[in-house]
Amino acid sequence: MSGKQGCKMTAFKLKMSKALGLPSRSSVAETPRAETPPAPTGKSAPGGNLSTERPPSIEGIIDDVLEARTVEQHFFRPSMLFGCKRANVFHYTRVPHHPQRQNPRMLRILDNGTAIHSVLQGYLADHPDWWFAPESRILVKVQGATIRGSCDGVLIRREDGYRVGVEIKSISHDQFIKLTKPKPEHVFQAGLYCRLQKLPWIVIIYWDKNTQHLKEYVVRYNPQQWEDVKERVKELYGYVQSGELPEYDASTCDTTFCATVDYCRSKGAPV
Ligand code: SF4
Repeated sequence: MSGKQGCKMTAFKLKMSKALGLPSRSSVAETPRAETPPAPTGKSAPGGNLSTERPPSIEGIIDDVLEARTVEQHFFRPSMLFGCKRANVFHYTRVPHHPQRQNPRMLRILDNGTAIHSVLQGYLADHPDWWFAPESRILVKVQGATIRGSCDGVLIRREDGYRVGVEIKSISHDQFIKLTKPKPEHVFQAGLYCRLQKLPWIVIIYWDKNTQHLKEYVVRYNPQQWEDVKERVKELYGYVQSGELPEYDASTCDTTFCATVDYCRSKGAPV
């Protein structure tokens, strides 16, 4: 790369850092954007007022991503946020994990779920009238805590840019037939993605792992629910900052896929 190109790249990276609310290079990895309210969507022309802005350097973006990966990150995952409080605190503080506790059958169940996501995402990517952006990442600060995760995808109508989020859940037949509405923890997760992805709507789609039937539920962004999300994050992050642990709660404890069960037991949980 020539000196001039190098200068351009440096200027670009500074611009990217500013746009993302990132600090200087030395501490770039652990600095997500501040959360912002959802932007209105509508019938604006594709690209709208941004159509005259030249594209960024793709290499510069890749550089940013690879550099961020070199730093250990502490964060809450949206998919865990409304489950076991202890598991959230353990995840954020990166206590020892024991994935080897997962037996081969459990690992097959996890891989099956991943495969179902891929199949559904493949279907959605094939529609001629919609673009599909899979695994749409969020990395933001909420109440001082870092939230990192991925919505399973965002569908964007080619004609006018209308957007809707998609969250995929693969569940057992027993759970599927009982579903008359989305599970509360999934609604909270969807609401969080709505807010942070600036989506007015998100559809939760359930896949019956036994019969391959589907059920779908629409979730609309709800400002009050966002307040609940913030309260939850504040509470959990309070534990992280104080070094205290939430009380063991049998009603939210599910050791089936818990990777910190040994550590939790060592901290007094009767599991
Ligand atoms: S063992 Fe139960 S209580 Fe402990 S972190 Fe895992 S799910 Fe939570």
